Amino acid sequence: MRMAAITVCLLLCWCSSFSRAAQKWKKIESEYCEIYFLSYRELKKINSNVDVSLISLNVEKKIRSPKIKTKSISNEVKRKFDVIFRKVKEILDMHPRGVKVKINIYLNKKQLDRVHHKLFKQKNRAISFYVYKTNTIYTSVQHISEGVLAHEMGHCIIDHYFVVLPPRKVQEILAVYVDSHLND
Ligand SMILES: [Zn+2]
Repeated sequence: MRMAAITVCLLLCWCSSFSRAAQKWKKIESEYCEIYFLSYRELKKINSNVDVSLISLNVEKKIRSPKIKTKSISNEVKRKFDVIFRKVKEILDMHPRGVKVKINIYLNKKQLDRVHHKLFKQKNRAISFYVYKTNTIYTSVQHISEGVLAHEMGHCIIDHYFVVLPPRKVQEILAVYVDSHLND
C-alpha cells in the first residue's frame, strides 16, 4: 500500500514537472521580433493563421535571410512577422531606430486573460494587447492574424517614435488606421 502511494506520488511529481516543461517558452528571433511560443505544433498553426501574401512593401529592401537557407516553419514565421513590422513602419511613416518587439503567443484567450489579470488586475476584453513597459505584444494562437499583429506592432512603433506619448485615443486611432491599410 505504502509502495503504491509512493509510486502515485512519484508519478504525479513527474507529470507536474512534465507539464511545467511543456509550458516552457520556445523562442525564435528575426530582425524586428523576438517571438515566444509554446510548441512547434503551435508554431505551425501560427504560420497558417498569419498571411502576408497581400502585403506589398514600397521599398523592396530584402528581409535579411537567415544563415541556413531552409524553408522551415521558423524561417517562414520570422519572414512574415518582419514583413508586417516593416509594412507598419511604412504605413505610419515612422521609423524609430533599433526597435525590436517581443511577442508572447499563448494558446488561447483563456491563457491570455490570466496574464492580463496578473499584469493589470483587470478583466481582459481584447484578443491581444501591447505593453510599452515590457515592450511586449501579448496574443494567442487562437486569434493571431496579420491584422492583429499589425495593430499591436503599430502601438509599439507609435510608442517608440514619440518622445512624449500621444493621448491613448490618438494612439488607438493610429493603430486602427494601420490594420485597415495593411493591404494597400
Ligand atoms: Zn489598440
